Amino acid sequence: HAKRIGRNSYQIFEDYFAEERMAQTNLEQALRKALSDPNFIAQKGFSVVFQPKVKHLEQGAIKTVGVEALIRWAHSEHGVVSPEKFIPLAEAAGLVSKITQFVFHESCKHLKLWRVIEPDFMVSVNLSAYDFDRPNFCQELLETLKYYGLPPSAIDLEITEHNALLVKQDNYRKLNDLRNFGFKLSLDDFGTGYSSLSFLAQIPVHTLKIDKEFVYKTQYSPTDKAMLESIIKLAHSFKLDVIAEGVETIENLEQLASFGGNYFQGYFFSKPLEADAITVRLQKEKEQRF
Ligand code: C2E
Ligand code: MG
Ligand code: MG
Ligand code: MG
Repeated sequence: HAKRIGRNSYQIFEDYFAEERMAQTNLEQALRKALSDPNFIAQKGFSVVFQPKVKHLEQGAIKTVGVEALIRWAHSEHGVVSPEKFIPLAEAAGLVSKITQFVFHESCKHLKLWRVIEPDFMVSVNLSAYDFDRPNFCQELLETLKYYGLPPSAIDLEITEHNALLVKQDNYRKLNDLRNFGFKLSLDDFGTGYSSLSFLAQIPVHTLKIDKEFVYKTQYSPTDKAMLESIIKLAHSFKLDVIAEGVETIENLEQLASFGGNYFQGYFFSKPLEADAITVRLQKEKEQRF
């Protein structure tokens, strides 16, 4: 009897995994199809939202200094799919560059208008390690900027230590090239990987972006708290800017501010928004200053 139950539950597991695999394959096919279509953007449910990045000014005032572009995909059958799920699939299918190009174009298009309101406004774009494998990657970015009449210094490129990017020695050279052209560079998701502190001194980025998990954990763990404080101070001593993501509460904010952090991003300030809502936000902030 026991054996039968064992076998049944095993069978259930098998079915479950078979279904999961099937769902995964379907999603992969849908993504492949969407990204191979030259008009994939408008027709296949891709869009870009923008999340404010704010700076703390004197007297508690805040200023939206830029936004991070985040891709969204709403598929007719699969519903809204998280980028955490489909970016790795796009990478595996060799199609992530399509996403980068789309997001970069959308970002420039809107940034051009935002800069009329706020001349120093920036957009951050997330890169994949696979972007660095394309020989003309940097050139393509520069051409798009030229088309929109924007300088590279208007763009912040977010890279992460998690994906293979920094494993390749050649990519350090490419990062330096981007930096020399004037792009701003940020190291995303810092604190969740296993990067050493000496690595911080080597990587040619302008900004260290503290991962939201790290921000979250420090509320409950004195060890993490001490680490975060040291990291912010160390980064500042290397002349790096520090921005914390995932700032959800006033407590998060106060803690980070007490550690010397002055750039923030998170639901406490704003969720990712449609481009038009960013325009409204910028206009409002500008009016308040006068
Ligand atoms: P990320 O670059 O670290 O982006 C931060 C994620 O945290 C975003 O999730 C954002 O919506 C979310 N977030 C922002 N504030 C808060 C907060 O206060 N609390 C919590 N819990 N979450 C917050 P999203 O948009 O789902 O993106 C997830 C990841 O997918 C990104 O992590 C990034 O690695 C990747 N991704 C998104 N868009 C792109 C893209 O255009 N290209 C590439 N290559 N990757 C992208
Ligand atoms: Mg990011
Ligand atoms: Mg991040
Ligand atoms: Mg993150």
